[in-house]
Amino acid sequence: MKKYKSKINKIRSFALSLIFIGFVVMYGAIFFRENIWLVAIFMTLGLLCIVASTATYLWIGLLSTKAVQVVCPNCGKYTKVLGRVDMCMYCNEPLTLDPTLEGKEFDQSYNNKRKAEDK
Ligand SMILES: [Zn+2]
Repeated sequence: MKKYKSKINKIRSFALSLIFIGFVVMYGAIFFRENIWLVAIFMTLGLLCIVASTATYLWIGLLSTKAVQVVCPNCGKYTKVLGRVDMCMYCNEPLTLDPTLEGKEFDQSYNNKRKAEDK
């Protein structure tokens, strides 16, 4: 069985891993300090990862303002729903904004209109 995560959480962990990758890549540059070009390439790559991560964080911020805030029926906390279906950020309870999908088994493909119509 596939494990689903709230979209905002998913993007957030992606942004966080980008920062780590960026730092690891920049740290890797130390091992190539004899070669100025390799150092430059590694530093640039690391910096790009960190810039991409910052951009992702900004994107999450924008997405969060667009997301619909709902109270999770399972844990009672306020969570945000992105798209037609999403998971609760705290307990991973599947949530939907579309009444026709209510009670149906959670499927990430409901977010993709074409895929959902094939069903
Ligand atoms: Zn919940």
